[in-house]
Amino acid sequence: MNLQAEILKTPIPGPKSRALAARLAKCESRGVTTLKDPSPIVWASAEDVFVTDVDGNRYVDLTAAFGVAGVGHSNPKVVAAIADQAATLMHGMGDVHPTLPRIELLERLRAIAPFEDALGFLCSSGSDAVEFALKTAYLSTGGPDALAFEGAYHGLTLGALEVGGNPKFRRPFAGQLRQRASFVRFPDRREPDSGPHTLEQIEKQLSKERGIGAIIVEPIQGRAGVVIPPKGFLPGLRKLSNERDILLIFDEIFTGFGRTGTMFACEHETVEPDLLCLGKAMSAGFPLSAVIGKRAIMDAWEPAHGESIHTSTHLGNPMGCAAALAAINLTRELHLPERAASLELVVERELAVLKDHAHVVDVRGRGLLWGIEFADPAVAAEVVARALSLGLILLQSGLRGEVVAISPPLVISEALLIHALSRITTIVDNVTVPA
Ligand code: PLP
Repeated sequence: MNLQAEILKTPIPGPKSRALAARLAKCESRGVTTLKDPSPIVWASAEDVFVTDVDGNRYVDLTAAFGVAGVGHSNPKVVAAIADQAATLMHGMGDVHPTLPRIELLERLRAIAPFEDALGFLCSSGSDAVEFALKTAYLSTGGPDALAFEGAYHGLTLGALEVGGNPKFRRPFAGQLRQRASFVRFPDRREPDSGPHTLEQIEKQLSKERGIGAIIVEPIQGRAGVVIPPKGFLPGLRKLSNERDILLIFDEIFTGFGRTGTMFACEHETVEPDLLCLGKAMSAGFPLSAVIGKRAIMDAWEPAHGESIHTSTHLGNPMGCAAALAAINLTRELHLPERAASLELVVERELAVLKDHAHVVDVRGRGLLWGIEFADPAVAAEVVARALSLGLILLQSGLRGEVVAISPPLVISEALLIHALSRITTIVDNVTVPA
């Protein structure tokens, strides 16, 4: 099938990308972009499921750019909403004078919340949202500490890093972290006993450590390599939190807005969190995030009087709110959660051939969030690099980099998805282990 999907005009990366990477090396702090082995492609534009680089090469984006472009890149309705809002009111005054888009977005989040009587708070990044949730939990319970999971990714600002379970990100800052979190192993549905076992461990931990005010968890660990817990684990966490008067925070910054086949991943087992962190696909590319929580918990914040004790300059940016309103409407109108649920079967079918592959340890996923786990992280890296050179954007994930993650825009057509997956299986078939 020729879908005119990937269009390659130069070797990857092309000469313009290489030249721009050299310019970047001279002006960006060196801890950010990998500039050598591999050298990056420089994105020039993106539309729907496609990304075009500065050399005119067009790629199929199988990452939705970290899960952000659920409704597709530069969706015209989101673009129009931002443009209209930019022309009308670009910036509000944070906690002082509210704006209409902010009110409308908070009303919308309240309406779609997976629990009754939700109140919301808007922030800019996922890490911000996590920090707001942790502060709320402290105000509500008095417990300054948290229980979190090995492998968890909640962002990299200092507060979010406290509950992050990836040593790679924690180690360089160990001296700055206050060790506010206790970590337990995140259970994996491949080992059904790991759910009850982890719950037991948590129970012991909660009896030992009295300062724990919240459990923070990703319903599916994304960046750790799409790790899905066994059935019953999330309801078990809910039960434990209820018994101990501890808050349950779900970080659905990655899994929210249809990614896993329901609007929010907590809906698969109808578990109601006390606080829900949202971001990424919510605003389809405008930096915006949110926390929604049950009124009784959010009311732990004193009514604001004068200067708010938690706010920021860009709180509830009107363009971000307009983008989010458009993206949420599209998610509903295009039935994107349902699409993700039905395309899950397509991915499962198309990737089934990999299950017996010599390099492959596991193929797993839910909705349109999938991971192919390799025995050797070098093979995963090779697959990602080879895919890019053929016009497919993939992301390496997993604590050792052993997983190739697939999280395309939820608007991807079935035909294009099948085309891209068949290219991936061919790449894996032909991959050679780097020396
Ligand atoms: N939480 C989860 C589950 C995430 O996947 C991410 C980002 O990947 C974050 C939090 C942090 O979001 P941000 O990078 O916007 O701070």
